[in-house]
Amino acid sequence: KPGENPQIDPKLREQHLKVTGGKVFTRFPPEPNGYLHIGHSKAIFVDFGYAAHHGGHCYLRYDDTNPEKEEKRYFDSILETVRWLGYEPWKITYSSDYFQQLYDLAVELIRRDKGYVCSCTADEIQRNRGDKGGARIACVHRTRPVEESLREFENMRDGHYRPGDCILRMKQDLEDGNPQMWDLPAYRILDAPHHRTGTKWKIYPLYDFAHCLVDSMENITHSLCTVEFIQSRTSYEWLCDAVGVYKPRQREFGRLSLQSTIMSKRKLAQLVDEGHVMDWDDPRLYTLVALRRRGVPPTAINSFVSGLGVSTAITNIQSARFDQSVREDLEKSASRLLMVLQPLKVTIENLPEDFVQTLEKPLHPKNAALGTSTIPFTRHLYIDRDDFRLEDSKDYFRLAPGKTVGLFSAPHPISYVAHKTDPATGEVTEVIVKLEDGTSGPVKKPKAFIQWVAVHAPSGSPVIVDETRIFYPLFKSDNPLAAKPDWKADISPHSMDIVKGAMVEIGFWKLAKQAFNQARLESQARTEKALREEDTSRGKDDDTPKVTSE
Ligand code: ATP
Ligand code: MG
Ligand code: MG
Repeated sequence: KPGENPQIDPKLREQHLKVTGGKVFTRFPPEPNGYLHIGHSKAIFVDFGYAAHHGGHCYLRYDDTNPEKEEKRYFDSILETVRWLGYEPWKITYSSDYFQQLYDLAVELIRRDKGYVCSCTADEIQRNRGDKGGARIACVHRTRPVEESLREFENMRDGHYRPGDCILRMKQDLEDGNPQMWDLPAYRILDAPHHRTGTKWKIYPLYDFAHCLVDSMENITHSLCTVEFIQSRTSYEWLCDAVGVYKPRQREFGRLSLQSTIMSKRKLAQLVDEGHVMDWDDPRLYTLVALRRRGVPPTAINSFVSGLGVSTAITNIQSARFDQSVREDLEKSASRLLMVLQPLKVTIENLPEDFVQTLEKPLHPKNAALGTSTIPFTRHLYIDRDDFRLEDSKDYFRLAPGKTVGLFSAPHPISYVAHKTDPATGEVTEVIVKLEDGTSGPVKKPKAFIQWVAVHAPSGSPVIVDETRIFYPLFKSDNPLAAKPDWKADISPHSMDIVKGAMVEIGFWKLAKQAFNQARLESQARTEKALREEDTSRGKDDDTPKVTSE
C-alpha cells in the first residue's frame, strides 16, 4: 500500500499523502516515437486498470525526452488510441513539463557529490564499465571536485560543448553486481529542437534519470513497467534517495509478445518506410491503429489482454490465437452482409423477368438487436464463382449439375438446370437454375447455403466494390526475428490479394451510414472536449503535484 514502505522518509511520505490523499496513482508513459501496438494495450490495461480498481487515477505521460525521434502525429495517435480503448487519462503530462525541475535536481545531485560531468568518449565509458574487454574502473572525472562538475554542467547547459563531448553521470557503485549501478548517464547534450521547449535546452535528461524523478514529482504510487526494468528498480530507488525525493514503488509485469509478427517501433518504421506495408495502420500489422482499421473492436483487445493476467512471465502468444479471440468477439457483435467476391451470373428460369420480392434479412443470425437489411430477390442473381462446380463430388454440397443448394435468407433453394460457357475460354459465364418453390412436389432441405446478390437496378442492387483487399500473414514463420540474414528475409512475398469488382448486398449502405455517423459523432465529441479543456486550462491554476525536494 502506498505510504507503508518502511524505507520512505516519514516526512516525504507525509508530503506525498497530503497530495494524493492515499489514493493510487499510476501512469502510462509511452515514448512518442511511433504508434502504439498490441503490446502497449497490455500496459494500458495494467496501468489504467490497476488505478481504476483501487479508485485511483492514471496519467498519460508522454516521455518526450528524445526530440530527435518524436513527431506530432505520434502524440495525437497515442491519445486517440488510449481513448479508443476506452480509457480517459486523469491528466495528460509530458516529461518535458519538468525539464527545469529535472535540471535543478541534477544540480542537487552534483552538490551532494552523487553526480559528475564525465568527458570520456562513448567508447571509453563502455570500456570503463567492463564492456569491450575493458576492466570496470572509475575514470579520472569521477573524483573531480563538486565545484568543477557544477561549472561544467552549466557549460553543457549553456551550449559550450558539442553533443558527445561530455555527459552528466550518476556516481553510483561500481562494485555492485548490477550494471544499472555503474554510473549511469543522466544528461546528454543534444543539438535538436524540442517540439515543446524549442531551442531552450541543449541538454536532455536520459530515461534512467528522468523517469523515476518525474514519477516522484507526479506522486505516482505504483510505477508499473515491464520486466526488462527489474534491474533498473535499483537505480530508480537509488536516484530518488540520492536527491532526497519521495520514492514511488516500481513493480514489473510480463511483456506481451506476439509470434509471427514484429512490434518494435523501429522495425515497424522500417516496414513502412521501405514500402513492405501501406502505412502504420496497414491491416497486416499489429499496431492498434491497424487493428482498429481492420475492424477489431476495442472490447476484443481489452478482453484478450485481461485474459493474459499480470504475472512477470513474458507471454509469447501466437498471433493466430489473438485473431481467434477477436473472431469470438466479432461472432457475437458483427453484422453480416451477403457478398460475392468473384461474381458468376445465375438466372432463375421459373421466375418472370420483372419478379421482385423484398426480403427483410437479419443482420445477425442470433443477435436480433443488430436489426435487418432490406434486399430484393429477383430472377437474375450473382453467386460466387467458387460456389459452382461442373464436376460434382460426394463431399461437395454447393451448386453443381444435378444439385440443389440454399441461398442465405432467400425463400427457396435453387437447383441446377443448365449452364453457358464462353466458347473462346471455356469459362462458365452463366448458370440457369430453377427455384424449388414446392409447386412441383416436396423439396429436400439443402445441405449448404451460399451467398448471393440480386440484380435490381431500381434499388441499386448489387453494390459493386471497386477493390477488395484480402490479407494473409505478413511473415512466413512464427519467429521472424530468428530469420537469416535478418528478420526482413522472413517477410512473405504474398500477403495481400486485390480483387476487383466484387459485389455486396445493398444493406452495405445502411452499415456504412451508421459507421460514418458514428465516426462523425465521435469526432464532434472530441472537438468539443478539446475546446472545453482549452477553456478550463486557461482559467485554472496548474494543480499538478510539484516536486518535493528537501
Ligand atoms: P518499442 O520497443 O516498441 O519502441 P517501448 O517499450 O519503447 O516500445 P514505450 O512507448 O516506451 O515503448 O512504452 C510505453 C509503455 O508500454 C512502457 O511502460 C512499456 O513497458 C510498455 N510496453 C511496451 N511494449 C510492451 C509489450 N510488448 N508488452 C507490455 N507492455 C509494453
Ligand atoms: Mg521506449
Ligand atoms: Mg523498447
